[in-house]
Amino acid sequence: MTILHLALPSPLRQLFDYRLPPGLPVPAAGVRVRVPFGRQQLIGLVTGHGEHSDVPAGKLKPVIEVLDAEPALPPALWRLALWTARYYQHPLGDALSQMLPVLVRQGEPLLSRPPQVWRLTPRGLALAPDALQRARRQQQAWQLLSEHPQGLGETALKALGVSRDSLQALAAKELVLLADAHAQEPGAAVAPGPLLAETPLTASGEQAAAIAALAEAGDGFRVWLLQGITGSGKTEVYLQAMERVLAAGLQVLVLVPEIGLTPQTVARFQARFRCPLAVLHSGLSDRERLQAWRAARAGEVGIVIGTRSAVFTPLARPGLIIVDEEHDLSFKQQEGFRYHGRDVAVRRAQLEDIPIVLGTATPALETLANVQAGRYRRLALTQRAGSAKPPTVQCVDIRGQTLVDGLSAPVRARMAETLARGEQVLVFVNRRGYAPVLLCHDCGWQADCPRCDARPTLHRDPVRLHCHHCGAERPPPRSCPQCASTDLRPVGVGTERLEDAFVDLFPGVPVYRVDRDSTRRKGSLQALIGQIHAGGAALLVGTQMLAKGHHFPDVTLVVIPDSDSGLFSADFRAPERLAQLLVQVAGRAGRAERAGQVLLQTHQPDHPLLETLLNRGYLACARDLLQERRLLGLPPAGHLALLRAEATRPELPLAFLQQAAMTIVQGGYGVQAWGPVPAPLARKAGKSRVHLLLKSEDRRVLHALLDVLVPWLEQLPEARQVRWSVDVDPQELG
Ligand code: ADP
Ligand code: ZN
Ligand code: ZN
Repeated sequence: MTILHLALPSPLRQLFDYRLPPGLPVPAAGVRVRVPFGRQQLIGLVTGHGEHSDVPAGKLKPVIEVLDAEPALPPALWRLALWTARYYQHPLGDALSQMLPVLVRQGEPLLSRPPQVWRLTPRGLALAPDALQRARRQQQAWQLLSEHPQGLGETALKALGVSRDSLQALAAKELVLLADAHAQEPGAAVAPGPLLAETPLTASGEQAAAIAALAEAGDGFRVWLLQGITGSGKTEVYLQAMERVLAAGLQVLVLVPEIGLTPQTVARFQARFRCPLAVLHSGLSDRERLQAWRAARAGEVGIVIGTRSAVFTPLARPGLIIVDEEHDLSFKQQEGFRYHGRDVAVRRAQLEDIPIVLGTATPALETLANVQAGRYRRLALTQRAGSAKPPTVQCVDIRGQTLVDGLSAPVRARMAETLARGEQVLVFVNRRGYAPVLLCHDCGWQADCPRCDARPTLHRDPVRLHCHHCGAERPPPRSCPQCASTDLRPVGVGTERLEDAFVDLFPGVPVYRVDRDSTRRKGSLQALIGQIHAGGAALLVGTQMLAKGHHFPDVTLVVIPDSDSGLFSADFRAPERLAQLLVQVAGRAGRAERAGQVLLQTHQPDHPLLETLLNRGYLACARDLLQERRLLGLPPAGHLALLRAEATRPELPLAFLQQAAMTIVQGGYGVQAWGPVPAPLARKAGKSRVHLLLKSEDRRVLHALLDVLVPWLEQLPEARQVRWSVDVDPQELG
């Protein structure tokens, strides 16, 4: 008896055994099968087979259907799936189901159905030319089909004046039939003719050196860091590297951060290459996603461009992977299957034996450490492309200064001058809404969220207190619940407040606010960007959304009213993130001919991080931070996994993680356990949250522990009383 081991879409960390009905060929790993599961049916993937099972033979259920003759994922991707699920300690069945399009999980064919065409039957072919004389329209249809032995599709026939009735009449006489169009050559959908749709830019010296280095290294596995300052033309390097790969008939996978996948980005690739391109993003319907996935898998598209999850798109002929803005936090999935898209992409390149390029102006410390260790090679672009010059960055000491809506007098004056010249000013604030705090001026009461240990943000449009942690919303009180005073004041500055302030401060100048609230409607971000690109004096105020990737040629002044908040955060990654953000925001200034300037307001003008960043640049700053991490044994010098648990009753997550901590300490695994401790946001949406951080200098030691710890935790009765998760290489400790 053959027993199949299956990964089923289930949160349990286990495989499921089923019987293969006799006489059926044993399906390979990765093939989809349909099985009974409780009262329902599930589609799972075969992971292997054998003759023995721990389930008694009488209880083994038979497989209902083997769906495909071939695995859903090519071999390298199958291995990637197994590696990723294991590395991130996620149940294989659930991991696999997240890697596949919904419709593939539901049993839709892996291959798109070939189009159907009408064709003559042997009897139709043998028909005498005048046999249908008395049925003029049938005669005309027969004539057309005899001129097109490959067959004609229904729409083509309709356009030629042939009705469905005539075709059916001919079919009834067995003269024509509806059949699959002849299968095309694989990859035949790639447009014939020249690949380039436009002439590439003439590469600068540094760009040319990077392109040549990539070309000379050949087509095997290698990781490159393309470190180019903002505006240095990294995209042109990608495009010219891609050209060589596409010309060889291979496919390119491009991963971009969530907010980087704009129509402008896609347009740049489309403008350069004539080959078909598939875009994968969260806005696709299930059907569109399936079509893109099939086209990539069948090799019908040359370029696949998408966000994090696109890293799992199968490719028939992979040739190159590009990860743009590799430092971006959106590559790490923050819930459920907590993989890091960049790290998975590197592993994928290794399994596929192809090169991968990680591009950014501000490499993650992990990536820099890999360069220092000689595992990754660095290509540098230190000059801005064309005639653009890097911006000058200046700290504005605001100690003791009077701020109007968060802005000091010198900064306001500089803004006015810039606008008077008909140029644009970008103001970056890290908080949407009107103000982060609502305070009673008489007694000091502050509005809080009833369900979280957090203060809700005051929003103006509509007026409400909105908790950004749990989503709860309510109208603000009219008077202080503590002392009944009506002197309630918003404290701190959000995007809405600046927008209001600018209307008064700079009358007549258009203000564009770009944040999650102002861009909620589909297409509104594109509309805003269009207005900004129209040029002329304007104020741009926004969050991260505005800070990254965009090319605004008329912005010559960037203002960061509060650069201090990142300097004193509890998260050890905060300084790295702050440095990256400052460089990225600054990079929006002066991207055309006119020089740009960046003003950083700070209470800490002598802070070593700011000093290093401004005087010696990002790389020097990153090296210092890396040194600090080494001293503390923190990533990338040490390796972390974070166990999180939460429940309404606070003692449950604590007790659960105490068990884990005790096992680790007593087991002598060589892994440090820090905690359990209350999470930084100890109560969220009414749940008490507890953390246990695991750390080891040796990645293998940490993973060996997780391999035994996680399954053990899963079977504890207490595991069912809490919501818990494991986060390998956590990026945020919140
Ligand atoms: P980044 O490195 O920030 O991604 P981009 O790739 O967006 O930079 O390039 C910035 C600008 O420089 C773009 O407008 C691009 O068209 C232009 N550019 C890039 N390379 C060249 C070049 N070799 N010659 C002229 N302009 C270039
Ligand atoms: Zn009060
Ligand atoms: Zn809340």
